[in-house]
Amino acid sequence: MKTKINRRTFLQASVLGASTSFGSSSLLAASPAPVMKSNLFSSPAAIPAAKGPRVVIVGGGWSGLTLAKYLKKNNPAFDVVLLDKNQQFVSCPMSNVWMADQISLEFLTHSYIDAAKNNDYLYLNTTAIELDRVGKKLVTTMGSIAYDYLVLAPGIDYDYKRIGIENPEDEYALRMHHPAGFNSASEMMAIKHKLHNFKGGTLALTVPSGNYRCMAAPYERACMAAAIFKKRNIRAKVLLIDMNPGIRIKARGFKKAFSEYYPDIIQYESSADIKGINLQDRQINTEFDSYGFDDALIYPPVRAASIIEQFGLSDEASLQQEAKTDPFKYHLLDDEHVYVTGDSRSQPFSKSGNTANSEARYVAEVISAHAAGKEIDWRSPQTMCFSGVKIDPLESMSIIAFYNYDELQKSFAFDRSHVIEKWSEKAGQAGLAWAEGMYKDMFYS
Ligand SMILES: Cc1cc2nc3c(=O)[nH]c(=O)nc-3n(C[C@H](O)[C@H](O)[C@H](O)COP(=O)(O)OP(=O)(O)OC[C@H]3O[C@@H](n4cnc5c(N)ncnc54)[C@H](O)[C@@H]3O)c2cc1C
Repeated sequence: MKTKINRRTFLQASVLGASTSFGSSSLLAASPAPVMKSNLFSSPAAIPAAKGPRVVIVGGGWSGLTLAKYLKKNNPAFDVVLLDKNQQFVSCPMSNVWMADQISLEFLTHSYIDAAKNNDYLYLNTTAIELDRVGKKLVTTMGSIAYDYLVLAPGIDYDYKRIGIENPEDEYALRMHHPAGFNSASEMMAIKHKLHNFKGGTLALTVPSGNYRCMAAPYERACMAAAIFKKRNIRAKVLLIDMNPGIRIKARGFKKAFSEYYPDIIQYESSADIKGINLQDRQINTEFDSYGFDDALIYPPVRAASIIEQFGLSDEASLQQEAKTDPFKYHLLDDEHVYVTGDSRSQPFSKSGNTANSEARYVAEVISAHAAGKEIDWRSPQTMCFSGVKIDPLESMSIIAFYNYDELQKSFAFDRSHVIEKWSEKAGQAGLAWAEGMYKDMFYS
């Protein structure tokens, strides 16, 4: 079960910030760099000794932060270690309305140190690079960490191959010049800069197929981009190219907002199965059509974060490279000590922060019960999402939904959904209050 470091994982780890080599002898032989000990990262990390059963969590996003807090609350004897490759947390939810200057960057940004101190767990700013499930050891760029339980909550990565981008040069060019803005603060900042400096013409935005992160957010971003262009009074069009047959969620509301507020700005195209992007000619190509653009934000389909595959956990049958897990208990089918949660999960729940938070509270109970030799009943996560459609003041729509499991179909479906597609200033404020409440839950005791 031990995942060996190969050339690919080495290169990926290097990109993630590992500063020295630790790979195979052939790689070391080819490298002009000084030869390092191959076990550089597998010697134990210099961190305080475990004071109880150690639960290591990879990923300090909405899922990992919530798990760390509630594992400790449910079972104070747990020694919880949360690790993230980022030095601070910047929220994706509400980032679209931040782009349109409705809130500050401070509103979105929070300290891992505060979260760890307030909730009595360890936080390490490091990257997980290797997993040894036999030895129950996670290797990080700080060294190895032994665990009793491991939770992988690393979020998503983009899958450019599913829009016909096979060449690494093209993928890199897209990441740099046409970022998706659904995974990192740098991407979000680059996009805000683009929106406020766009000279006019056509800005293309794409909506991926499959179960992508935050169903409503690409449509919300189209509204915010259009609102910015309207406020700046420039001649610009937002060309929203959707790989799906229609708007995936809050469809009536978004259609109404597009036609009521942004009729000359937003052009919506559906069923656009993107087959490739010609960066030189600035064209997005589908099977039948070709769309020209002056600038573009390309959101490709998503997959479970790459470490799920690198650790040898991806299910070959899964289009989004998700792990084979128990759908109710979240652990790997062949390992009750390793769990996968949040947007990396294999269940088809909405990839949203509220889903990740409510699910993590439940999984914290599952792990605590497992450690005590018990089991608990399955509980549905709760999805909640606010979408801004208009600014100054912010006006939003909302949805709340749960899930049930259909025994016949052997799959999950929405249950008890409540959609408010009539946007209002009150819902705009409620969305901000929701986000503040979530940050409070994740960062304070
Ligand atoms: C524009 C936008 C708007 C959104 N709006 C909403 C909304 O209104 N409501 C809502 O509920 N959700 C919303 N979402 C979705 C929400 O942001 C995600 O669903 C949520 O972040 C998922 O949480 P997660 O913990 O699974 O992943 P993340 O929050 O992405 O956290 C994963 C963490 O893992 C870390 N990581 C990955 N690999 C490693 C590694 N090898 N070593 C160490 N660390 C690692 C990453 O650095 C990251 O911090 C929105 C998203 C976007 C982009």
